[in-house]
Amino acid sequence: MTGEFDLIAILRERTAVARDDVRLGIGDDAALVVPKPGQDLAVATDALVAGVHFPEATRAEDLGWKSLAVNLSDLAAMGAEPAFALLSLSLPAPDRSFVEGFADGFAALAAAHRVALIGGDTTRGPLNVCVTVLGFVPSGRALRRAGARAGDLVFATGTLGDAAAALRLLGERDDAHSSNVDGALFARLHRPTPRVAAGIALRDVASSCIDVSDGLLADLGHVAASSGVGIEIDASSLPMSAELERRLDADARIACAAAGGDDYELAFTLPPENEPAMMQSLANAGCRVTRIGRIVEGSGVRLLDDAGDEIRLRSAGWDHFA
Ligand code: ADP
Ligand code: MG
Repeated sequence: MTGEFDLIAILRERTAVARDDVRLGIGDDAALVVPKPGQDLAVATDALVAGVHFPEATRAEDLGWKSLAVNLSDLAAMGAEPAFALLSLSLPAPDRSFVEGFADGFAALAAAHRVALIGGDTTRGPLNVCVTVLGFVPSGRALRRAGARAGDLVFATGTLGDAAAALRLLGERDDAHSSNVDGALFARLHRPTPRVAAGIALRDVASSCIDVSDGLLADLGHVAASSGVGIEIDASSLPMSAELERRLDADARIACAAAGGDDYELAFTLPPENEPAMMQSLANAGCRVTRIGRIVEGSGVRLLDDAGDEIRLRSAGWDHFA
């Protein structure tokens, strides 16, 4: 019989990352970490619910990776450097091999970013994963959604729409096989890359930043509202992968790139004079970046075609309660 404490031991052993600012990790009533002078602590949490955020048949390894990735993406959007994570896991049964797989997927990403798992909670219930991450950013230098000004340019890292296209191809089907064998688009859905180095590189040059989780237009809507500006996005400039171009027609591609969720790229703004410095530092960070639009006076986000006419999509993005 596998019990709660066996599962916690599996998580602790498989995710071990040594950090000298962890005074006390998993095993007591609370973890103890050492704050850094001159740094703000950035804290974010995101839950992943089976059937809502991921297909029920998602592999445990992928779920472990993704549950950390979506949280690191939030830290990246703030320009913060990740340090610690907490994991609340609700499982229908004490499934040892599931937890081993989950721990391995989580650990692969945690090790890459030197994130220490310092605590959490393990309970019985419907499959549900909630991760909290903590990271550091020099005081006052975090990137915010507020800060974009008319005249600023808008950029996106990486490519957009792959994860949404994968979900679309998956359709209503919910079998593990189809979700796991289907190549590059599915890799983007199950193993998103949080743009941590890019976020840190943007601290000194971007005027605002957000991570694209609910869909580009919807997420930029938050930037527009927080900054008190309007945003114009050029549909023909949206960065797309070769795989997306191969698999979907032009309209479907634009819908996925502009309104699909789960990209975990960064969308950010900066004044034109900062563009060369940003291009250089994102190149150094090994991160593709594309100019996709501009900040204007006004409000809201408009997607434009090459003639400057607005393209209206049926859905702008993902809203759990809409
Ligand atoms: P308590 O009952 O005092 O809340 P628990 O028995 O729930 O403590 O947890 C024991 C230790 O294991 C704590 O340090 C807790 O943070 C850690 N822990 C429990 N579940 C997890 C998990 N899923 N991931 C990481 N650490 C966990
Ligand atoms: Mg507890």
